[in-house]
Amino acid sequence: MITRFAPSPTGLLHLGHAFSALTAWDLAQAANGQFLLRIEDIDQPRCRADYEQAIHDDLHWLGLAWPEPVLHQSARLGAYDDALARLFALGVLYPCTCTRADIRAALAAPQEGDVVHGPDGPVYPGTCRPRLGQEILPGDAARLHMERALALLSGRALAFDERGPRFPGQHRLQPEVLIEEVGDVVLARKDIGTSYHLSVVVDDAAQGITDVVRGADLLPATQIHVVLQALLGLPTPIYHHHRLIRDETGRRLAKRDDARAIRHYREIGATPADIRRMVGL
Ligand code: GLU
Ligand code: ZN
Repeated sequence: MITRFAPSPTGLLHLGHAFSALTAWDLAQAANGQFLLRIEDIDQPRCRADYEQAIHDDLHWLGLAWPEPVLHQSARLGAYDDALARLFALGVLYPCTCTRADIRAALAAPQEGDVVHGPDGPVYPGTCRPRLGQEILPGDAARLHMERALALLSGRALAFDERGPRFPGQHRLQPEVLIEEVGDVVLARKDIGTSYHLSVVVDDAAQGITDVVRGADLLPATQIHVVLQALLGLPTPIYHHHRLIRDETGRRLAKRDDARAIRHYREIGATPADIRRMVGL
């Protein structure tokens, strides 16, 4: 078993991150497996070296260890380009130059029904879809033509195994849900040339991750990842989506919640065992 914790160095780790990292760590420990740290820093302008240092310090303080050097996604852009080229060759990508405002305007048109929200926000209305097969130039985003992708994969059972406590069992992907509620997601952003979805799929495979542990908020995104794995011929890991740590008003913790930063609890004298108790482990 190989698990991983894959934070972005865009803020301090909070209790939600601690829960995720500890859950992945405990799972690997129990199976005599390996735990990896991966730094998801594709969005370079938002990433900071001091946050990355804080990730290392806080996780070590919690008692976690991992092999060094850790993989940085910013060093993997070539691998993401290769994956994009393979998807392009399959005929499932198209260039898109729509801005957020363009998309909002297209969705406001009278013939569009209610706006459906997918894993990345409003489901794309398909404005640039007729550009399927056109070359993707620097500065274009690349979108996945979901219907084409599913047509290419028709006859294949698209599914993943979920072992988290909340939704255990085999999840079969529903093509109509993927088309209507996920849609043509961006796989390469115009500013960074890749995306969370593409990078995470390429790297989970490259690192031989057998078990992906992450928050239940990413369950909808997992459908996209399974489609990408099938298109790229990569294995689908086992998924463990866990509950989210919330504040007293019921809101999910975010990077801005510095009051719940591990760093803050360390400073006021909490121990790693206290952190485990606070997240219910
Ligand atoms: N970098 C992503 C995050 O911090 C990783 C999510 C995942 O584990 O797939 O949300
Ligand atoms: Zn477009």
